[in-house]
Amino acid sequence: MSTKISILVIEDEKSMCSYITAYLSKDKYIVTSALTGSEGLSLTASLCPDVILLDLGLPDMDGCEVLRQLRRWTRTPVIVVSARSEEDEKVKALDLGADDYITKPFGTNELMARIRTSLRHSHSQAPDSKYRALDLEINFEKRKITLAGEQIHLTQVEYQLLSLLAVNSGRVLTYNSIMNTIWGPYMDGSNQILRVNMANIRRKIEKNPAQPQYVFTEIGIGYRMRENEYDF
Ligand code: CA
Repeated sequence: MSTKISILVIEDEKSMCSYITAYLSKDKYIVTSALTGSEGLSLTASLCPDVILLDLGLPDMDGCEVLRQLRRWTRTPVIVVSARSEEDEKVKALDLGADDYITKPFGTNELMARIRTSLRHSHSQAPDSKYRALDLEINFEKRKITLAGEQIHLTQVEYQLLSLLAVNSGRVLTYNSIMNTIWGPYMDGSNQILRVNMANIRRKIEKNPAQPQYVFTEIGIGYRMRENEYDF
């Protein structure tokens, strides 16, 4: 029998805890819940969970503070659970090192997809050598991109941007984290250069750039690339 995947839910809403627990416990997961931030911190240390679901609105401390403390010593994937009104907090949490977010109310399929992606990124030792979804293929070693077999030519920056998203496929990347990775600390805080490059990439790879199939915009947050089908 294989070891179950351990999920820690840090959430003060009891109904949300039981919803998540009821759903996930059926499967190969073992779920523990903490009702406060401090309980969550100590349970993380004692249980070493595989994934943490962290509510941003906790009674004893700010969810971002919980995350800041966690990130001092653990790389365990954290998926932030937020209400619609917590948009700014959500972006802050992602920039502080949360792996992804999910907005209440959410469906179980969406939750499972987030957990699966987080586990995949935390467990893979070597980065994927290829990305493949629908008609798009990226060979990272050869730096070659094809769309339905036809080679696509990207500029150096466009390639870096697309491969960053592809390596993190399935996960949201904030505008800030993309800007910092690709353009470093020299930028003026505007995302203009990112938007221009993304528009160019979409013209080259998307059938209809207004309704993208590969790189999705998460308004006010960042971009998420369609999940890699290569290793499934
Ligand atoms: Ca709450």
